[in-house]
Amino acid sequence: MIEIGSKGNFVIDLLPALEEEGLAFRFESQGIPVDEDGFDIEFEQPPTVRTDYVYIGGRLVLNGTLSCVIAGECDRCLKPVPVPLEIKLSETVFRGAPDDEDDESYVFFGEKAALDKIILDNIMLNMPQKILCKEDCKGLCPVCGIDLNENTCDCKIESDDNNPFSRLAGLFKDDEEV
Ligand SMILES: [Zn+2]
Ligand SMILES: [Zn+2]
Repeated sequence: MIEIGSKGNFVIDLLPALEEEGLAFRFESQGIPVDEDGFDIEFEQPPTVRTDYVYIGGRLVLNGTLSCVIAGECDRCLKPVPVPLEIKLSETVFRGAPDDEDDESYVFFGEKAALDKIILDNIMLNMPQKILCKEDCKGLCPVCGIDLNENTCDCKIESDDNNPFSRLAGLFKDDEEV
């Protein structure tokens, strides 16, 4: 189980929901989630959470959206690239330890639940595998480090077919088409 705790920047006070089991409530908030796992995500626009929640049968059920803009950087040329994320938030959080002792379940105790960890986990899961400033970014010269989108250099890397760098460039191309 993963305890989400009751402290953070996205804390739901669940008392009304606990007293009115089965009734849907709404939670909206924006801020920087408290990062206890060291994900170290840089935000260009901090996460906004809009979610309905209902407490029923010992569980808190969340259904909503999470949006933010990550301050990413191009994998090839290291230029800053904003990465907007729109994530469908759909989670179940057990109150107290779940019966099946499922290690992956979120758990909260008491009358408050902080969504910070859930938000960061969802962002990590939805982060793109590859961040590029543009599809055909030429990247940096592996020899002299110059930005090949803006400059050319005299390094011999593409003229020689036996050069490992040109074969690598071919691999990148294949990768892109998948
Ligand atoms: Zn780039
Ligand atoms: Zn070069």
